[in-house]
Amino acid sequence: MLHRLMTLALIIFLFIEHGPLTSERAKYGIAAGDPFVHEIALTFDDGPREHGMQELNTVLINNGVHATFFLVGKFADRYSNITLMLHDAGHELENHSFTHPRLYKLWVEKIMREAERCDEVFESLSIKKTAFLRPPGGGFNMKIFNAMRRMNKKLGLWSLNTADYTGRPSEEIVRLVLSSVRNGDVILMHSGTPNTVEALPEIIQKLKERGFTFVRLDELYFRGRS
Ligand SMILES: [Zn+2]
Repeated sequence: MLHRLMTLALIIFLFIEHGPLTSERAKYGIAAGDPFVHEIALTFDDGPREHGMQELNTVLINNGVHATFFLVGKFADRYSNITLMLHDAGHELENHSFTHPRLYKLWVEKIMREAERCDEVFESLSIKKTAFLRPPGGGFNMKIFNAMRRMNKKLGLWSLNTADYTGRPSEEIVRLVLSSVRNGDVILMHSGTPNTVEALPEIIQKLKERGFTFVRLDELYFRGRS
């Protein structure tokens, strides 16, 4: 049974990642955008952190980029001034649960509670309800799909993982992104990682020279959809 569910989840995942932009795909979420459009979404997980957020925001704004932040609800609450700073700067704030547990291990009701508590923090700050949920670690299963359907949320995954959380040097992050980026990529990075902040100006500049534009995940998702 478990094996069959995992196979089904894998098929759905492959469909999401490689399938066309159709109404079918809209049911589940997004891992990458249109492969024929020179657009990229930068996404930052696990914030807000106590340190490094101002620097990250500044480098994005100075380069004219609006990004997507998957925030952990309890941190969004604890550092609410930073949450509001990101919101006021025009970034998209999305749901990365309240306490950052492995959601696939929880019951559906608990999964929903994790996401709802994160939304409640945003609501208390007058920030709009989140449209996307990114399960911590990216692991998901049918319980998560079930919970998301009931909450009317989409799965927000990624297609290019910089693994910046491993502490790899900024030159490596730059090299990885520039050598493997494709149209419609959703790039996974993390909040509060100094090497990422250091890598961003070159990444953004070089990709702009190649004709890419940077969009938020909601723009990537809803592009061409009525
Ligand atoms: Zn995370």
